[in-house]
Amino acid sequence: MGRYVLYGGTAVTGKRSGIALVVIEGERIGKVIFEDDASYAGAMGSALSGKGEYEGFERICVAGKYIFAGGIDAHVHFREPGLTQKADLETESGAALAGGVTSFIDMPNTTPATVSAKALSEKLELAAGRCHANYGFHIGANNRNSKEVLSVLENMGHRVGGVKVFMGSSTGGMLVDSGDALEEFFRIKGKTVLVHCEDESLIRKGLETAREKWGEDIPFEAHPQIRSRKACILSSMKALETAMRLGTKLHLCHVSTHEEAEMVRAAKLNNPLITAETSVNYLHFCDEDYARLGSRIKCNPAIKTAGDRQALREALACGVIDCLASDHAPHLAQEKQGKYGKVPSGIPSIQFTLALLLQIAEETGMPLTRAAEVFSEKPAEIFKVRDRGVLKAGNYADIVVFDPEAEHEVTDGEVLSKCGWSPYVGEKMKGKVERVFVNGEEAFGKDGLHRERNYGQELIFE
Ligand SMILES: [Zn+2]
Repeated sequence: MGRYVLYGGTAVTGKRSGIALVVIEGERIGKVIFEDDASYAGAMGSALSGKGEYEGFERICVAGKYIFAGGIDAHVHFREPGLTQKADLETESGAALAGGVTSFIDMPNTTPATVSAKALSEKLELAAGRCHANYGFHIGANNRNSKEVLSVLENMGHRVGGVKVFMGSSTGGMLVDSGDALEEFFRIKGKTVLVHCEDESLIRKGLETAREKWGEDIPFEAHPQIRSRKACILSSMKALETAMRLGTKLHLCHVSTHEEAEMVRAAKLNNPLITAETSVNYLHFCDEDYARLGSRIKCNPAIKTAGDRQALREALACGVIDCLASDHAPHLAQEKQGKYGKVPSGIPSIQFTLALLLQIAEETGMPLTRAAEVFSEKPAEIFKVRDRGVLKAGNYADIVVFDPEAEHEVTDGEVLSKCGWSPYVGEKMKGKVERVFVNGEEAFGKDGLHRERNYGQELIFE
């Protein structure tokens, strides 16, 4: 059983950030003692001397570093089962740790799709003992499986992150376009319904128009016209309206336009159960980057304008957008080569989550406390993740030590995702994840990922 004292660093929670001592005992956080606490001086003395209370503990000086609760990423595509040439649970959960993410909830558009009790149970079995980070899964909706989904929620609800509804096609073909089926899912109580919103008929029209203009040589710059802002807005409007009417605990995935952020702000006044996420892809890139990165930043929904990027940053900072998710969606480098119509959508990004978030926070004046909320505390609250997400005594010791001064340029060689590339290669990052504890075990250190063992446990959803 590991016993550690981290001292000298700045602990960050949603409520406060400040110099603190963080104690890990076994798989849980023993104590978080801030500098203004009466017991701080005595604890610090023991941490420094190794005598008294912390005798026998491994004492780690983290002066100048930040200590966060490990990130909870509720939107990843780790491609297993069925698409493991692109990625798998073991490789991508390792990449997650390098991004400060210690828990993930994987999307159901694998092969087979996670749309039944059987498929979900098989996925949970596949994950057991093979994940570097804690794992959980969403179940997928389609036009025919509402009864099955309800029975899964009834019988094994604590093993389900949420119900994912694709209101627009994406990898895996799990479109819900029947109005009746949609209403049945939106009537679900007590579980979050996550929606991918893009209007299918507008996308099809957009693609036809582009083909008329360019034939098969559609430039990647046209992606945000094909999968247009209008397609996002129309579909999100439908989802939000339905959620307001039926009182759904709706979670709008990867918000990519300023209009949708405004709609979320308004909808929350009517139905406070509504939440939203965005990904670093929409906070970091904008349409000006297609010329440079082309297919590498083709994702769904499309990356929009610099104006949208700024509005999304503000919406995340002020709480209209509740949390961050990576939408980590790896494809092989060779799959990303070729014509627009053939290249799949998706970006491998999870490895850079915390560094990018803190960079964006610095650029926008977002306080560190808000970064802790969007990174781990809010996702834990939205998906009711048991005993994780907040840096506090009693929770599992999922802890990230981040060095804000470690500037570096991302290289291909450091990409841990199986696909071996990322559009973030070549970017200068200010700050780096230095050490990660998962369930009280050091799973990632200065020497990188500890591959010999996997410390991830199954997430329990209350
Ligand atoms: Zn996704």
